[in-house]
Amino acid sequence: MAINVHQFEEQAEAFREEMLREYYQTLAGLKEQLEIAPIYERYADLFAEDTVRALLGRRQDKQERYLAELATMGHLEQRVKDLTEAITNFILKATVEWDGEEIPYQAVQPRISNEPVMERRHELYARQRAVTAKSNDQRAERFQDMYGAAQDLGFTDYTAMCDQLEDLDLAWLTEQMRAFLDRTEEVYTEQLAHYLATIGVSRDEAEVSDTLYLFRAPHFDELFPAKRMIPALRATLAGLGIDMDSQEGLELDTEPRPLKSPRAFCAPIRVPDEVKLVIKPIGGQNDYKALFHEAGHAQHAVNTAAELPFAFKRLGDNSVTEGYAFLFDNLIRNRHWLQEVLGAPEYEDYVKFSHFYKLWYLRRYGAKLLYEQELHGGVEDPASRYTDILGNALRVGIAPEKYLEDVDDAYYAAQYLRAWIFEVQMRYYLETEYGPAWFTKPAAGRFLVDLWQQGQRDNVVELARQMGYEGLDLEPLTEELLNF
Ligand SMILES: [Zn+2]
Repeated sequence: MAINVHQFEEQAEAFREEMLREYYQTLAGLKEQLEIAPIYERYADLFAEDTVRALLGRRQDKQERYLAELATMGHLEQRVKDLTEAITNFILKATVEWDGEEIPYQAVQPRISNEPVMERRHELYARQRAVTAKSNDQRAERFQDMYGAAQDLGFTDYTAMCDQLEDLDLAWLTEQMRAFLDRTEEVYTEQLAHYLATIGVSRDEAEVSDTLYLFRAPHFDELFPAKRMIPALRATLAGLGIDMDSQEGLELDTEPRPLKSPRAFCAPIRVPDEVKLVIKPIGGQNDYKALFHEAGHAQHAVNTAAELPFAFKRLGDNSVTEGYAFLFDNLIRNRHWLQEVLGAPEYEDYVKFSHFYKLWYLRRYGAKLLYEQELHGGVEDPASRYTDILGNALRVGIAPEKYLEDVDDAYYAAQYLRAWIFEVQMRYYLETEYGPAWFTKPAAGRFLVDLWQQGQRDNVVELARQMGYEGLDLEPLTEELLNF
């Protein structure tokens, strides 16, 4: 089948815009439910099997490779669109009975995070899991359908398809993460016992709900007041020579709406002219981290060169945009930033705590990477593999009911891991070139803007090489998490 790549790319951009607008409106609380199936129907031609095969057959350069990946993933997503919608809307409507009221499923996690009594946390989490379990048949069916679609397209299996199309090098990453889990185990276990003791939980009884409470850490709220969030972001960008308020493509949505997602997010609806940074400022370290993370995505999008082809503006390696997002959210644990931008009087305890938090994240995602390969490889009893693998890495009780909800499509866990690795390398480059307070140097800002302009044309391995490294290297991140 002959295919007009240029036409495909134009249509793909229009499709992406409609999808992001739909997600934005739902998550920003402007719309009560998500309706993506009609969008997939309108753009059905983009993901027709013939089109996908034709694009897979002509992956001559980067642009064609990125478009082939989009078409393939879109083909899988449209095959399961009804299940996706059903699961999302089930979760949006689901409630959990608690203290005589019905609380929305999505509001349970914040409740657990703020519940000081361990027995009550465990009970609330158990009730939420009972609801999660009700969606598991549909989630399992959804993955099965995607496995089938991958094989229909001629790939060995789903994992091989993601690995190849996203250029993830899963074999390398898996080996690295296994070594990382070994090397950080002792430090992690010691630190975990220490922090659990601060909330009065013993290691034997600890489960995920306790870590939610631990990482909520209300005693650090004073450091991170809600009213300083946006000014701190504005000041950080000003330090880099970027005037956030004069960025035409950027819209800061801070309006309170009842249905608005409590977690900040960025919707790059049209890059670079319509980028929404949505936030419901609550304050506290997690909220700051989320805002700065999403601001990293937003700066990447709003600074992307308008004349780039869509494939380079929005497709390619998502570890790139996640890397920029991590560069920003990592500032929250940067001693220089805490002192100079936030003007925090006392931050040592927070910096240590925050490094432990990051170690926990890395171990969790390393374990997810191992588990997801088993899940997608068709392992028997995946729910018990989930509790074993994550339990081994995190040393707290893991709920089997979450074995599918906790899995993002297309190995996004691998993209995050690559991004965390890349972020440290990029940050060390910035520190070497511009000093430890690089975020106060307009020259560092110009360097970043130059990178951002390229969208996601180059992947993180290529970008690391451009900064003088041989490629991705987990060593600096490991060292940082072992010595804090
Ligand atoms: Zn992100």
